[in-house]
Order: sequence, then C-alpha cells, then structure tokens
Amino acid sequence: MSVERESIEFDVLIVGGGPAGLASAIRLMQLARQKGKTLEVALIEKGAQIGAHAVSGAILKPNALEELIPDHRQAGCPVETVVREDEFYYLTLNKAVALPATPRYMHNKGCYIISLSRFCKWLGEKAQEMEVNLFPGFAANEVLFADDGHTITGVRTQDQGLDKNGQPKSNFEPGIDLLAKITVFAEGARGNLSKFIEKKLDLNAGKLPQVYETGIKEVIQLPDGPSYFSSSKGNDIHVMGYPLGLKAPGGGFIYEMAENRIGIGYLTALCYNDPMIDPYEMFIRFKRHPFVSNIIKGGKILEQGARTVATGGHYSIPELAVDGGLLIGGCASIHNTPALKGVHVGMKSGMLAAETIIEALDKNDFTVSALKTYPDKLSKSWVHREIWEGRNFAQALAKKTIFKFIHLGTQYVTGGRGLIDPLSMKADGQTLKPVSAPKRQREDKQIYDGELFADKLTGVYLSKTKHREDQPSHLIIHDPEICSSRCYPKYASPCTRFCPGNVYELELGESTGKARIKLNPSNCLHCKTCDIKDPYRNITWKCPEGGGGPGYSIV
Ligand code: SF4
Repeated sequence: MSVERESIEFDVLIVGGGPAGLASAIRLMQLARQKGKTLEVALIEKGAQIGAHAVSGAILKPNALEELIPDHRQAGCPVETVVREDEFYYLTLNKAVALPATPRYMHNKGCYIISLSRFCKWLGEKAQEMEVNLFPGFAANEVLFADDGHTITGVRTQDQGLDKNGQPKSNFEPGIDLLAKITVFAEGARGNLSKFIEKKLDLNAGKLPQVYETGIKEVIQLPDGPSYFSSSKGNDIHVMGYPLGLKAPGGGFIYEMAENRIGIGYLTALCYNDPMIDPYEMFIRFKRHPFVSNIIKGGKILEQGARTVATGGHYSIPELAVDGGLLIGGCASIHNTPALKGVHVGMKSGMLAAETIIEALDKNDFTVSALKTYPDKLSKSWVHREIWEGRNFAQALAKKTIFKFIHLGTQYVTGGRGLIDPLSMKADGQTLKPVSAPKRQREDKQIYDGELFADKLTGVYLSKTKHREDQPSHLIIHDPEICSSRCYPKYASPCTRFCPGNVYELELGESTGKARIKLNPSNCLHCKTCDIKDPYRNITWKCPEGGGGPGYSIV
C-alpha cells in the first residue's frame, strides 16, 4: 500500500519514555540552555501517557537523579519511602530463614523506593517544563535509514486505523516519518527497534547473548492498622529459595510504599530448562508462602504489571553508537544485575548520551566516530564500575549444581572476575529441554482466588491493558505449523505458560488432536517474554497501535 506520509524534523529524537529516555531529554535541554543553543528534541512513547508502560521494583539509587535534578525532593519527586535497612531471607516450603548478611551490592540503605510509573510521569513533567516535545501514544514501527543503508535518519510511527487484515478503515491515519540528526533508542529491555538495528548492523558481534528475567509486580493496599513494616527493622525485603528453588535463578521482593501500600514482585530468569515453568505461577506461589501471605493478609491489589529485565550485564552490551543513532538504558542491556537495579544506570547512560549529542551537534558530525565518545564516557563513569563487578553474575546464576555457588563465591571476592572471565551462557531461547510425558499431566492448581491471588486474566484487568481490537495482530507467529508439529510435541507449547497475559491459548482439534495456538493480542502486557523465550524463534513482538497496552499509574 503506497501512502503519502507527513515528515517532521528534529535535532534529536528519543524513542521511549522510560527513565533513560527522559533523563537524556532533560540533560540535552539543560546542556543546550547552558550553551545558549536552541534545540528541538522530541520524545515518543508508545504508552497512552508517559509512565503508562513503566513497571519495576523499584529501588532507585539516587545518584543519577541527584546529578540531573539536584533539588528533586523539593521539586516534588514522588518518593514513596526511603530504605532504612535491608532484610534478606531464604524461603523454605513453610519458613523464612533470615540470612546472616546481605551481599554488599544489595545494600540499599538511603535509596528511594518508588513507583516507576509515577516517577516517569514526574520526569515527563520536568521534560515538558524544559520544552522537550513529548508525544505519548506514538509507537515507532520502523527505523529509517539514509540511502547508504546504515545511517539512521529517524523512525516511522505505526499506521493507525488498519483493520485485522491490514486494510485501511475510514479513520486510517498513516504513520509519520520523524526525522532527526540523531535518534536515541531508549525502548527498555528487548526493544523491537533496537533488536532490529542490532541484527542489521551486527552490533552484538563478539558479545555474549542478552539474557532476561520476567518480573510480575503488584501494588497492594494493606488494611488499616499496623503492618509488618510498622515494626520491622528493614523496609526492603528480598528473598530467594521457594518456589523456584534450584530450578532457575529468581527471587521475590516486598517494598514498603507510602500510605500503607506495598510493592511486591517475583522475577524468574528466562534461562530455565523446564518448559512447564510458568513465571506468573511462581509469583502467585511466592505470595502464597506463609511468610509473604502473612504480610499481605487482608490487602487489596491496586495494580499489577509485568515486564522483562535485561540482566546479561557488561559482556552482553551491544555496540552503543552507530551512524546517526545511540542505544541507552535497558534496550542496551545497561543494568546492575547483582544489585537488582537498572533505573539509575539507565538514567546515567541517557545523560552521557546527551553530552555526546551536544558535542556532535557542535561539530555537525553524527557519524559513529563522533558518537562513540558516548560508550567511551560510559566506560569511564561509575556506571561501568558498577556493571563491571556484575559482569559474570547472571552467567554464574544460570549454572547448575555446586558450580553456581563456587562461581558466585569467587566472584564476590575477586570483584566479579570469578574462576572464568568471561563466563558464557546460552540465549534464553535455547535452554528448554523436552518435556517428559508425566510432567504434562499438571496437577490442578488451587492457588488462585480471583482477588488477592489473582489469575492471569484478572491480572490483565488489574494492569488496565487495552488495545483496539480490530487491528492487525502485533504478535506474529511466523509458521503455525511449527507450533503444531514441533513445539507442542516437544515442549508442550511453553508460550501458554511463560506469557503472563494469557495471550497464547492451546486448542486441540477434537478429532485430530492437532495442536493450534489461538492468540488474544488484546491481553498483551508488552513484557516481551514471548519474543525472548520461544524455542523456535517463531514469535515476533511488534508494536501495536500507539496508546495501546497497559495503563499503569502506580506499579
Ligand atoms: Fe508478554 Fe508476549 Fe504475553 Fe505480550 S504476548 S504479555 S509480550 S509474553
């Protein structure tokens, strides 16, 4: 279909309104003002509002924020509580055993407990005050290149108003070409455009695979009266052990928020082998543990969300600068994995990218040789020092048996080096093992009650997820025959379990018994797990129409 498209030009275009993208936009305007320059910066965000797709723990180490907005507390930064002490437990089936010490990288005293959604909304307001052009509800669909085929010139936004078959309806509006001297990709973990660029421009050559964890999080309003945190020493709790045990890396958290609310979540590393694992079920089983259920007793879920986190660390960071473009934050795998934190390093990466962009604008040079001062700055900053120490952490966690603990122990005393440096690991899509026949007979799980222990569909409702129904599916199953004849017999269709939104449903033909996957794209939480964990790389996540997806306001 050939359509006429509008195009708009900016100096800088930022794709993604998470903390990295917003920090970059604010820093750009600060630096431009310091130099007395006028700068046209645009930031597009696929969520209906800034913050609508932002979900994380979240404990914020405030160093990057202090640099960016020193008076942030007076400026109304929505800090829920400040961490007064850490608590760290190992969960057995019925008990919580306090661990004698919390690993040094998980010391959070003085850090902020925030709702990432509220924090991003506030950062968006700050960006708007600085005259950044914010476009929430705009989904980037395609990267635009110059005639040389490798210089990025901007992005094309998603067409609006197509029907299920991709045909224009009466309200059809073609996507717009947003052009810029420099495009900054800040899409968060497994960004669909950054994934495309990495492949096209071979940015992962010589790197370890990017690997991920899927986290499910809720904010729960506790009943009036004293709560666990009224008398506890610490107000950020981390746990390991039950329910995943040694089946896969992962763990849970419970954070004290303002007004008698808590943030509670569970992360499952996607390097797991057993196709029957269901990260959402792990979250509910974690909530059902006596230690946890006692804390949340009588509470009411206010919101639920899900998202993957890129945890591969230093050796999985792609090339960060290309002709006309930069990668920052989670889509660039910039994350301090041992500390379970990505917001502060993501923000700082965006701020350093902004410094490079200002220099490049001064020189009118947007080639990779001018822009590679950004990764240079990053490697000289505290971001590198933090990430370097965790360079083998996710890889060690993925190992089995006693070697996991030997690797982790030696890393702890050698500043992250460990016994083997770099320690390799497979991509998450390559780790599943065939499922055995008895395992397919899953016991009926009586773990959901539709209220405090919500099933997946109730969770989708609690995430306020909405998509326009009559649009092309944004989840592409490239070859449905692979689902029927290979994936179902070998892995029992793991998409029906790893997806927290119940988007993939298994249907068995009545007479043939042939498996078929039915899609419910409207339920999609944009977590990206399916794009990562599918063992045949048969699923691709694409952006739906802008404004669709979760409607987070407090997770
Ligand atoms: Fe996540 Fe994919 Fe399910 Fe959407 S369809 S909720 S991206 S796993």
